[in-house]
Amino acid sequence: SSGDEGKSGESYTVATDNNFVPFEFLNEDTGEMEGFDMDLIRAVADEAGFEVEIESMKFDGVVAGMQSGRYDIGIAGMTITKERAETIDFSEPYYDAGLTIAVQESNSDIKSEDDLAGKKVGTRSGTTSEQYLKENHPDAEVVTFPGIVEAYMDLQAGRVDAVMYDVPNVKYYVNNDAKGELKTVGETLQGEQYGIAFPKDSELVDPANEALQTLIDNGTYDDIYEEWFGE
Ligand code: GLN
Repeated sequence: SSGDEGKSGESYTVATDNNFVPFEFLNEDTGEMEGFDMDLIRAVADEAGFEVEIESMKFDGVVAGMQSGRYDIGIAGMTITKERAETIDFSEPYYDAGLTIAVQESNSDIKSEDDLAGKKVGTRSGTTSEQYLKENHPDAEVVTFPGIVEAYMDLQAGRVDAVMYDVPNVKYYVNNDAKGELKTVGETLQGEQYGIAFPKDSELVDPANEALQTLIDNGTYDDIYEEWFGE
């Protein structure tokens, strides 16, 4: 279509999180970033007719990289929030998520967020979980980590009592990486939606939204979803 003219063949930098299973993580064998977000952004780029170059970093670096305009696109399971939308543009939502709590499998003390007072609760710096804990659980002792895997490992080692984080990441880690040592407790705490991020007023927002809609309509989105979240 005429809307693609001028963008065809252009290459854009994509900032992503270096570890947020199963949305983005390093495949040690191939040296490539893989995951739901990686498949999605490559499909969006294909559809919109541009190339992408993926750069991985800590999550807070992705947010900062959008604010400074250092990267063209950010995709990192990034929750669309009012606060972020003041300094960053977002695509339409592409994934429904929320927050949950993980504890050790043997823990019978913490059954929901109502039991967090006086507990050490790990999470990741610069995320919606950190904000949620600060706003809703001033009595908990919040411990922030640059990478969430460090928080899970401290939970397994008993150095923190709980971890609060995004439902799909917690579930994936608990089911695949925690060797049966962790479980989730309580309800989903806060409904959230992920969006593709852009520096404010980026000209890529509209083409990305159009491509996203096409991928939803033609079944590509469902195929990618099935690959990473199918039973
Ligand atoms: N969805 C959460 C947020 O936006 C965490 C994202 C992440 O750690 N990659 O803050």
